[in-house]
Amino acid sequence: MTVFEKIVNGELPANKVLENDKFLAFYDISPKAPIHILAIPKICIKDFHSADLELLKGLNEFIKEVAIKVGLDKTGYRIISNIGADSGQEVPHLHFHILGGAKLKWEKLG
Ligand code: 5GP
Repeated sequence: MTVFEKIVNGELPANKVLENDKFLAFYDISPKAPIHILAIPKICIKDFHSADLELLKGLNEFIKEVAIKVGLDKTGYRIISNIGADSGQEVPHLHFHILGGAKLKWEKLG
């Protein structure tokens, strides 16, 4: 079981931003930007490459809701999803990093 599944089922605490029946957003424990949020599906799919279009459409809309909730729609933000070993993906549970809150440099995550 990944740490994100433990967050979804309440075994691990997280600073939640937004939640619905399918998706959850919470602040990254090790932020790489002034605002660094992770948006995940509640079901465990290992990465973007393995996800079906229906799920990604829902996640897409959810990410926009998260951005609006924290005001990033006004200032701009980046979204990143690491996929597999060469990307440096650490947690094998699909997630998008939502990064903002300052003018961001292009730095490697993780
Ligand atoms: P990845 O490298 O897989 O794309 O990113 C995983 C992210 O999950 C990292 O940015 C890391 O800081 C974050 N992370 C790992 N464990 C936890 C945790 O227990 N809680 C929270 N909030 N974030 C975590």
